Amino acid sequence: MVDSYGRALDYLRLSITDRCNLRCLYCMPKDGVEWKSHDAILSFEEILTSCRILANRGIRKIKITGGEFLVRKDAVNLIRKIKAVPGIEELSVTTNGLLLEPCLEELAAVPLSGINISLNTLSAQTFRRISGYDKPGYPAAVLQSIEHARSLGIPVKINCVPLKNININELVDIAALAEKTVDAVRFIELMPIGCAAKMESMQAEDIRAILEQHYGKLQRVKKNIGNGPAVYYSAAGFSGTIGMINAMTEGFCETCNRLRLTPEGLLKPCLSSDMTLDLRSLLRSGASDEYISKCIEEIIARKPAGHSFSGIYGNVKKNHTDKDMFRIGG
Ligand code: SF4
Repeated sequence: MVDSYGRALDYLRLSITDRCNLRCLYCMPKDGVEWKSHDAILSFEEILTSCRILANRGIRKIKITGGEFLVRKDAVNLIRKIKAVPGIEELSVTTNGLLLEPCLEELAAVPLSGINISLNTLSAQTFRRISGYDKPGYPAAVLQSIEHARSLGIPVKINCVPLKNININELVDIAALAEKTVDAVRFIELMPIGCAAKMESMQAEDIRAILEQHYGKLQRVKKNIGNGPAVYYSAAGFSGTIGMINAMTEGFCETCNRLRLTPEGLLKPCLSSDMTLDLRSLLRSGASDEYISKCIEEIIARKPAGHSFSGIYGNVKKNHTDKDMFRIGG
């Protein structure tokens, strides 16, 4: 699949649930939200049909997201089936890590090409502040799962969202996990979507300055790592890398390779656009694979050049408070 800007699309971010066991400040309102009913979200069979049609059109890599994907019943079984869809070469997941431990052996057997774990703090107190999660055992349980995952041969990346006045004093310690504990630690510029639109983010340049003060000059890694837009750096003595996802200040839309599918079956050619294709309705109306495939081709032809978060792509800068990141899948 190639869009009208010549970008080859081979990567699907597939959100299998809008539900989550956390309420992170930048993602989901603290008082909760109205969950989509079971009937409103794609069934396993519908997800697999969607993956099959998309794989026929050239999708090769899938990232399972949520909400928190592990809160969906039987998620690991679904993942095993998605990996078996002809054409799918790589399957990875993104998770907050809290429910990971008992599933790791089964996930390793899928096999997964990687696990991304959201980890914004190493302090139980700050974790409560960011996520509303109030059980003991954080972050020890997540760190233990990271170690276990790597012992099973699954590469692990950490995703951290630096938040002004909340976790800035921990960035050096979180980056230190790339010294020998994980394959990469990535710092993500907050995008102004949903709850995050009201929060103050940090720019990648400032994050890098903090890290360089402690670790010395970070050297840009030339080769591409993973399927995403992160720019990677190495630090002296680190076996893993440090990544920056500079959505706001630099952008990465010119090399975009991705589509998104929401839990309720809306195929989104771009994170920032309101344009969607309602796969659920198409599937439930009995549309043929050929017809659905043609609809996909049409919406891909309309994929925008870039996002409208900051105006760097010449789009009119838009307010995205009406969108829910936990439904789009990050
Ligand atoms: S904002 Fe849209 S075009 Fe840019 S990387 Fe994300 S999905 Fe691709």
